[in-house]
Amino acid sequence: MRISNYHMHCSYCDGAGEPKQYVEEAIKKGFSVIGFSSHTPVPIDNCWTMKEERMQEYLDNIEELKKEYSEKIEIYTGLETDYFEGDNRNIFNTYKVDYQIGSVHFLKDYKTNNYYTVDGNKEDFEKTLYECFEGDIKQFASNYYHQIIKMLEEYTPEILGHLDVIKKNNGDGKYFLEEEQWYRELIEKVLDVVKDKGIIVEVNTGGITRGYIQEPYPSKWILAECKKREIPVMVNSDAHSVENIDGCFDLAYSILKEVGYRELAILKDGKWGSTNF
Ligand SMILES: [Zn+2]
Ligand SMILES: [Zn+2]
Repeated sequence: MRISNYHMHCSYCDGAGEPKQYVEEAIKKGFSVIGFSSHTPVPIDNCWTMKEERMQEYLDNIEELKKEYSEKIEIYTGLETDYFEGDNRNIFNTYKVDYQIGSVHFLKDYKTNNYYTVDGNKEDFEKTLYECFEGDIKQFASNYYHQIIKMLEEYTPEILGHLDVIKKNNGDGKYFLEEEQWYRELIEKVLDVVKDKGIIVEVNTGGITRGYIQEPYPSKWILAECKKREIPVMVNSDAHSVENIDGCFDLAYSILKEVGYRELAILKDGKWGSTNF
């Protein structure tokens, strides 16, 4: 079963493959609706977001594909937009798209004003932990989740991206245990804001397909907390290559069923709604 996927990166940012290739693969795999979510430009030099000068081309290209494939699949134009502390570009309100996935990938070091990643490999993670937070994982996690809260309160994107990406390098519980009270409290604070703002939580399988962890973002217990609050959810692959557009979807669907979900949030016929799965 394949329903929708609104989180895909193609050659406009750090994904491999032209948008058209993703569309054709999605049709082959039986998706009825997909959305592209290229990385919106950020205020630091990097090689993973779109460049501002290519934004219009991206938006136009997806619009063309919508028309070209309208008989076979519904396509939406999205963006994965970063919340960067201290960024005053009002970037969430700059581009007119069908939806935005709001994500926190970087944290600001108040001492140096440098940004450190939350979403890198183990080496990057330790650099953030030790250089930015002096080895204090509670401060690291607290800063990360408070950035998410600020993003949701200030901009209210439709979808919250990879909620607990901070666990990316913590598969063996090396840095923290999710069952600890302080960590649970941070998650609960985030979920209260998610509920209050009516935001969709994505179940993101990208950390599995890229070999970091064994389960999606967010963890199953967090999805159970989402269900208690009746927070809408969707399954996204965060694909950076065509073959991963439905990577580990069956696992994500089955976890959602285990915690009691029967419906997924969906953007279809231009409207947000829900569908059984
Ligand atoms: Zn992301
Ligand atoms: Zn992404």
